[in-house]
Amino acid sequence: MATKNVIQMKLRLILGDQLNLDHSWYKVKDQNTVYVIYELRQETDYILHHIQKIVAFFSAMRAFAKALKSQGHQVMYFDIGSEISKNSLSENIKNLITEKSISKFEYQLPDEYRLDDQLKKLCGEINIPSQSFDSEHFLTEREDLKSFFEGKKQLIMEFFYRNMRKKYDILMDHGQPLGGQWNFDKNNRKKWKGTPIIPNAYKTGIGSQNEILSAIQKARIKTFGNYHQEHYLFPTDRKEAFAQLEYFCNHLLVHFGDYQDAMHNEQRNLFHSRISFALNVKILHPKEVIETVVNHYYKNSRVIELSQVEGFIRQILGWREYMRGIYWREMPGYKSNNKLDNYNKLPDFYWTGATKMNCLHESISDSLDTAYAHHIQRLMITGNFALLIQCHPDEVDAWYLGVYADAIEWVQLPNTRGMSQWADGGIVATKPYVSSGSYIHKMSNYCESCTYDRTKRIGENACPFNSLYWNFLEDKKTHFSKNNRMAMMLRLLDKIPALEKQEIKERALSIIQNPDGY
Ligand code: FAD
Ligand code: SF4
Repeated sequence: MATKNVIQMKLRLILGDQLNLDHSWYKVKDQNTVYVIYELRQETDYILHHIQKIVAFFSAMRAFAKALKSQGHQVMYFDIGSEISKNSLSENIKNLITEKSISKFEYQLPDEYRLDDQLKKLCGEINIPSQSFDSEHFLTEREDLKSFFEGKKQLIMEFFYRNMRKKYDILMDHGQPLGGQWNFDKNNRKKWKGTPIIPNAYKTGIGSQNEILSAIQKARIKTFGNYHQEHYLFPTDRKEAFAQLEYFCNHLLVHFGDYQDAMHNEQRNLFHSRISFALNVKILHPKEVIETVVNHYYKNSRVIELSQVEGFIRQILGWREYMRGIYWREMPGYKSNNKLDNYNKLPDFYWTGATKMNCLHESISDSLDTAYAHHIQRLMITGNFALLIQCHPDEVDAWYLGVYADAIEWVQLPNTRGMSQWADGGIVATKPYVSSGSYIHKMSNYCESCTYDRTKRIGENACPFNSLYWNFLEDKKTHFSKNNRMAMMLRLLDKIPALEKQEIKERALSIIQNPDGY
């Protein structure tokens, strides 16, 4: 009897943030391997997203599928208009396995706990072999941070970062940090006062955004935020992402470190790179970003200072990898941490920008217009205020996860719940990032055109951040009584006369009870 040759078809899933064209999967073209990419309601609807975030993801996913096809791979792409977009990822894969008589299912390890869990469950439900692969993106393994800090009480980022510098031999000189110093953080605190001139942010080309916008509308996906072509700056493919990175090296790196913490009414971008989206969907690899920047520095070290470059490398080699390590060390419990017992609602103006507090108005309007804000706006304006009015970290997470195009849970959650809201009790940040109006004035020009007076703590036109700041310290002082880094502020709090403290409390409470009235 003749034996029938059964073709063994392999199905490989590519998630929307796994757009790494250099992955070893693609080194071999195999007619018996089908790649599948889905635009799904499961992903558009698990949280309310900014319109530009969905557009940026779908544009990049479509461009990625096109690039894979042009390399000769077999790709099935299901867009948001297709009927199956309403099914869950698991249902769709199960159906495809049956329809195409798939004999093996493969996927790259997701970076989000939610999807990792879903895919593990799916593999237990299908009756064909399955295999997971590394996404080949990060410079550390999921578990590295856990083992690096084994037995340590505090997970100090700086130690992790120094180890990464040595391990990857970045900005090192015969085993010592280049320039004799690991960290130039103290140099990175200049206020921007109109000079040096800030070049415009790099403008990406127009891709399939309009088509995607109509598809989103047709599918009636709920979104928030604004879409104007001139404000849309997310790269779609490797060519654009590299052009954006080169633009950063040629025009912005020279002042990156100095003005890293600055904020300004008329300058949304300052000297920031805006490459977080391209990195997080894996169009760019962190190693190539670091190498490009370091090589640019070595070629131009007469005009670019080491402190500018070190400041940038620390963010990617240090903070980015560190945050990912924290996520995998602490999940799933991390997501329900609320160590400061905060239960208030996020003000409505986070969704509209309609507030008289100019710093918040500017930072939120920037976020709504561009699905982007730079680090200090996220940490010291929107995050600071949310913590001072004691918002529930779930509310804060939902906003941050939705509003920024670069927001994927593995990086958003440790930054928001940990660094910004101190809801993890100090795993990420040794002290809470809270401040009164004076820090905001020191680093920005927001206060100059604000209704409120940054120098006053009480009275109708007193800056709300001031009373809220002292009230926060008073309310939460038991949490920080043993924290050396808070000792000075708690001593200052003790020196405020009782009557003034009472007035501060009254003003703070009226803001906390009705933040939208301010
Ligand atoms: P640049 O200032 O040019 O920095 C270069 C790169 O360094 C960034 O692209 C990013 O990849 C990396 N980086 C810098 N700081 C951090 C950090 N703290 N954690 C991880 N990577 C960092 N970043 C995200 O990518 N996604 C998020 O969802 C996110 N949520 C945040 C929420 C809060 C409350 C805070 C305080 C920070 C958050 N960050 C997040 C970190 C940081 O604000 C953004 O990475 C940065 O603003 C992106 O803009 P950029 O590319 O111009 O960065
Ligand atoms: Fe913000 Fe207060 Fe300054 Fe106004 S005065 S911009 S509310 S810090």
